[in-house]
Parts: sequence; C-alpha cells; structure tokens
Amino acid sequence: MRAVKLVGPGTIGLEDVPVPEPGPGEVRIRIGGAGLCHSDLHVLDAGELWPVFGFTIGHEGSGWVDALGPDVEGFAEGDPVIVMLIWSCGRCRACRQGRDNACQVTGSRDAAPTTPGLGPDGSMADYQIVPARFLEPLGGLDPVTSAPLADAALTPMHAINSARRHLASGSTAVVIGLGGLGHLGLQILAATSGARLIALDVDEVKLDAARRHGADLALRSDADAVGRILDLTDGYGADAVFDFVGAQATVDVATGVVAPEGAIRFVGLGGGTFSYGATAFGPLPWGVDVQSSYGGTRADFVEVLALARAGKVGVDTVRYPLDQVTVAIDDLRAGRVAGRAVLVP
Ligand SMILES: [Zn+2]
Ligand SMILES: [Zn+2]
Repeated sequence: MRAVKLVGPGTIGLEDVPVPEPGPGEVRIRIGGAGLCHSDLHVLDAGELWPVFGFTIGHEGSGWVDALGPDVEGFAEGDPVIVMLIWSCGRCRACRQGRDNACQVTGSRDAAPTTPGLGPDGSMADYQIVPARFLEPLGGLDPVTSAPLADAALTPMHAINSARRHLASGSTAVVIGLGGLGHLGLQILAATSGARLIALDVDEVKLDAARRHGADLALRSDADAVGRILDLTDGYGADAVFDFVGAQATVDVATGVVAPEGAIRFVGLGGGTFSYGATAFGPLPWGVDVQSSYGGTRADFVEVLALARAGKVGVDTVRYPLDQVTVAIDDLRAGRVAGRAVLVP
C-alpha cells in the first residue's frame, strides 16, 4: 500500500509498504480521507529538531473498518469510523477526570499525549492500524470529507467549551483566522453560543465564507481591527477571543481587544508572544483568562460529531489525490486552501 512517510528531517516521501495486520484489540481502517493540518507543516519545518522519523503522517483520518484483530468487539467490517486525535491511557487521574487531552501517561508536562501521525503511523495512507478504543462511529457522516472533524473541529470545540461562561447571550466573541480550524470554530460558536460573532481574516474569500458560517460581522484583520472592535463594544472589548493563527499580529489583536474578566484562547501555533505582569492594569485588563490549546477530550469529540450529524457544523474541503500530497502542502503554505485540504487515497 502507499503511505506518506516522514522519511527524514523536513522530508516526506510517498512509499510502498506492506498492508499492516491488526493485532489484539486493533482494527485496520481503509482510509477514506486524511486531513492536512498546519501542524504537519510545523513537523516539516522543525527539521532535525523533530525527534522521530519513519512514521506515516496524518492526524485526521476517517474511513471504513477493513479488518478486525483478535478481541475486538463493537465494530464490523465496512463500518464507517473516524480516528480519535489523542490516544490517552484511559486510566490515569487526568483521564479518569475526563481530561484525556492532558493524559499524564502517554503525555507529560513537556509533551502532548500520543497522537497518530505525529509518532504512531497516521492516516495519509491506504490503510491505518488503530486501537479499537480510539475509533468513533461516523453514523451517517461521509467517511471521506469528515476526517478534519478529528482535529480541525475537535480543537476549537475544546477551546470554546473551556470559555463557555464568557459566551452568554449579549456577549461578543472574536474569531481570528478563518482557515481549517477557524471556519469550524465559527460554526461551533454560531451553533452553541449566544455571543455576537466578529470574524477577522486577511483574505476576502475566507471573510465571505465566514458570513455564510454565522459571523455577524466579518472584518479585515488590519491595523484598524483593534479600534473597530473596541468601537463595536463601546470601548469595553470582547468577552472572548479565539486566535486560530497565533502570529504576533493576531496575538496583538487578541490582547488589544479582550474585555475585563474576558477570555483569550490561543489555538493557532504561530509563535506570537506577549508579556504579562502581576499588575492591576496592562498589558491585559484585570481578570482575563488565557489558555493555549492542545486537541480536545473524548467528550468534546462526541459533541463535535453530534453537531456534524445535525448539520450544524460542516467542513469546507478541498480534495487532493494521496499522491498529490506535496501540491496540497504547497497550497496550504501559500494560503490557497479555502477550508481544509483532504487527501483521498
Ligand atoms: Zn492538527
Ligand atoms: Zn491517561
């Protein structure tokens, strides 16, 4: 079968490898679609700093059950399924509290929990082996275009759920960056919160999509953005800001518009920073709750799938054949993907 391998520092290759056999408790999935994420670009850009090589990339995968290993119950050949992003232990204190994206056994203080396609073989291949407990049934959802729900919808869902108390009716939420995660985060906010939604992006096509996806206002993210959002909130600021870019320019917008006792969620890994002081005023108003994000919990994922089945959240996908992976990577880097790139074996 074909598999997109991280063959060396900053280098991928489409390789021909044996079809893997599922072991006890495992399932072989025939991949329908595999999402391409900015995190995959970060892996390539990390070069020699990335610690492991030789695995299949792709941490957003969906498809059909192809073969069952020994001792697997609850699945049958042909079932449409989606692969969970985070492979947690299920037994540690964090997992038992439902915080499986902070698993203390497969992850640590310095490392995210095990994630397929970022260590174990992932989904950019004809087939993938997955422990059965990390599969969710897709129900009526499409096994090709649903793959991005695994990360591009899960991760915003978690960030939004963690800021839920800031999103009551009458509040204002700002969504920065309407790419793969942002266009789904906006839909989740529209479907599950009472907040007025202001979307920011530098791309007019993405701003148009934002209007379709529930933004009350879609604004160009430029030097005037902070002033306009403060004007729209009578100078008070936004109750919640979701930054799906995380570059210095967007971090500056987020910290510049957040209201007192508001929330900022940095979801994009753009490397921006801000200084924080143990002071009453500045650089942030008092009481602001700031979090960065890694994935989401199983409970968040169950919610994502329910919203998708109800037709309230849908992925804008751009399909590429699996052997066009480098074209998809170039398009993503250049900002040419409207929604999420999905590789189809
Ligand atoms: Zn990702
Ligand atoms: Zn655990």
